[in-house]
Amino acid sequence: MQVIVAKRAGFCFGVKRAVDIAFRESKKRRKVCTLGPIIHNPQVVQALREAGVEPVEDPVGYEAVLIRTHGVPRDRMAVLQSSGVEIIDATCPFVKKAQRYAKLLFEEGYQVLILGDPEHPEVKGILSYAGSDVVVVTNIEELPPLKERVGIVVQTTQPVTSLKQLVQKVIERTKELKVFNTICNSTALRLKETEEIAREADLMIVVGGKNSANTKQLASLCSSMGKRVYHIEEVSELKREYFNGVKKVGVTAGASTPGWIIQEVVEWLQAVG
Ligand code: SF4
Repeated sequence: MQVIVAKRAGFCFGVKRAVDIAFRESKKRRKVCTLGPIIHNPQVVQALREAGVEPVEDPVGYEAVLIRTHGVPRDRMAVLQSSGVEIIDATCPFVKKAQRYAKLLFEEGYQVLILGDPEHPEVKGILSYAGSDVVVVTNIEELPPLKERVGIVVQTTQPVTSLKQLVQKVIERTKELKVFNTICNSTALRLKETEEIAREADLMIVVGGKNSANTKQLASLCSSMGKRVYHIEEVSELKREYFNGVKKVGVTAGASTPGWIIQEVVEWLQAVG
């Protein structure tokens, strides 16, 4: 059985950076926590816990708190700063950039329009920099009334096609439009590569947290192509009978899946093959 592994499987730049910072900080002799689970991967969260870094909702009693890649809203940051806890800011630089652009647009007098999921922590963070007129749009077909000067920023994981459609709609309803394309291409490239592999493979293994949105996106892409897909968190979930008659198996993984878990899966598949 041939095993095709996506080159882009696993940690993206921002997640790798945050996880590296967390493990580095765990070695310093003080009580460190992360504000919520660092990523949607229970194995990594557990490994950090074992290294002494707890995920918490409130860092009371800790000496240092790590902000995860999604960032935090402005007022939450202000509360943390005034509490005296040391802040280790592992917000992804691409997310920071979206926050900065939202602030800039607001300061320049634009009504800020964010393309993204209003419930996502990254969007909540960006929104907090965008002033009181800010609007978050998920469904492009349902645009609210807009002001004359509109500025767009985008949740980093949105598809570029959605941004293009939004720009086309907004331009018809406003006098001045400024757009910051804050999409991170890591997600798009991972999806593209997964699609290419799925086209060739008889069966796809998608590795990553069951709660990870981008991992679920990879799994649904593969099933939308009519492929048999197993979305697993760990190698122990694989069964030999899945691979009866399979000649080519593809392996991909979400941005929050650590390399060692992918490696275990690949070795298991090679042994079966
Ligand atoms: S997907 Fe992109 S924006 Fe999000 S954490 Fe990774 S590198 Fe940063």
